[in-house]
Amino acid sequence: MIVELISVGTEILLGNIVNTNAAYLSEKCAALGLSCYYQDVVGDNEERLRETIQTALSRSDILLLSGGLGPTQDDLTKEVAASVMGKALYLHEESKAAIQAFFEKRGLEITDNNWKQAMMPEGCIVVDNPNGTAPGIIMAENGKHVILMPGPPNEMIPMFETSIMPYLGRLQSGVIFSQTVKICGVGESKVETMVKDLIEGQTNPTIATYAKTGEVHLRVTATAEGEKEARKLVKPIVKDLKARFGNNIYTTDDEVTLEKSVVDLLLANKLTISTVESCTGGLLAARLINVPGVSEVFKSGYIAYSNKAKRRLLGIKKNTLLKHGAVSKEIAKEMVKGAALVSKADVTVSVTGIAGPDGGSEEKPVGLVYIGCNVCGRITVKEYHFSGDRAKIRDNTVSAALSLMRECILQYYSEVTFGGKK
Ligand code: ATP
Ligand code: MG
Repeated sequence: MIVELISVGTEILLGNIVNTNAAYLSEKCAALGLSCYYQDVVGDNEERLRETIQTALSRSDILLLSGGLGPTQDDLTKEVAASVMGKALYLHEESKAAIQAFFEKRGLEITDNNWKQAMMPEGCIVVDNPNGTAPGIIMAENGKHVILMPGPPNEMIPMFETSIMPYLGRLQSGVIFSQTVKICGVGESKVETMVKDLIEGQTNPTIATYAKTGEVHLRVTATAEGEKEARKLVKPIVKDLKARFGNNIYTTDDEVTLEKSVVDLLLANKLTISTVESCTGGLLAARLINVPGVSEVFKSGYIAYSNKAKRRLLGIKKNTLLKHGAVSKEIAKEMVKGAALVSKADVTVSVTGIAGPDGGSEEKPVGLVYIGCNVCGRITVKEYHFSGDRAKIRDNTVSAALSLMRECILQYYSEVTFGGKK
């Protein structure tokens, strides 16, 4: 089935707000196996909204609208959508009672325009909105489904997940099952090249690529009569991907993040860790500490920003700093050594780089980063070149550091461990 997203709001057209609803909904639709061929943004204007809905109905089966369901005059999504579908509005008593209860609970006075939200198109499904006063609306006729949701994401997302998603699932014949293969340490274009043959021939299952900061996710989705059959279709593809990407796959579990996979690896091998950061200023430590259970393995997180701090905290030699500069392979190496000495952690990771916008030179441009990783005395230092603004460079650095940690720990055990014995 073809789905079309219509985001209603002049604020979006003016660039005052970012259309995060469309990004969220398109990702969800892809996961549900629905094809989204068009996305529209239209202002709070009756004529243009009518035209947009009519056009969308002519080429798509399911219309997902967000925004313009509120109580004010410029909120006209429901009125226009009902009129296009040829439905009159009537007072929906339950919605009226729900609005009354919502205001009474909060001790707020109800104004006349609030009752506008209790008017519903004939024959529609009224969808509960636990986080606001505007209910969602589903109108279905002649194989077309027009679904209206409120604009605020904190209302739209829970409504979508609890009510709309199951409705869409029921429209699909059969069951959809998908699994995500999460890859780190391989760039997006390389991943795409490596799965090009699979993607080109795909019908069922389908493979979709999602580029994330420092990682790439491949979502494999299959449709079948039952879940068992759908899983059976997904399994060989995931197996094939595992053969292609090997250790670069850090998980096939939706819930596992890159930092969690690193913490799990540390826990499994009973390794403690300390971080020492310059340009990321604690971001790496923060991401690791976000993982519940990290206290078993995390020892210290140092932020050694100035040269003085690097010398004082970690005993880095003045000569190395003078000779190679703070952003260098040698300093990244001394940082992990120093952190290991001071904190006595088994694994230490260092980050030093130029996040910009200033401070770059021809020899050491903005985006140049060195990441060091020391696993029980085995030190690896890698050079990276990131692009983008300061925030992006710092985020990319953290993901690269997590990825390098994984790689170094796995490598250490593959080299040091023999027949399962260390
Ligand atoms: P309300 O009852 O709050 O008026 P509404 O359904 O009428 O809700 P809008 O008036 O269109 O929705 O938008 C309200 C707010 O919701 C916007 O100011 C914005 O913060 C957020 N919002 C609306 N549409 C989007 C969107 N597409 N992406 C992200 N946020 C959105
Ligand atoms: Mg509004």
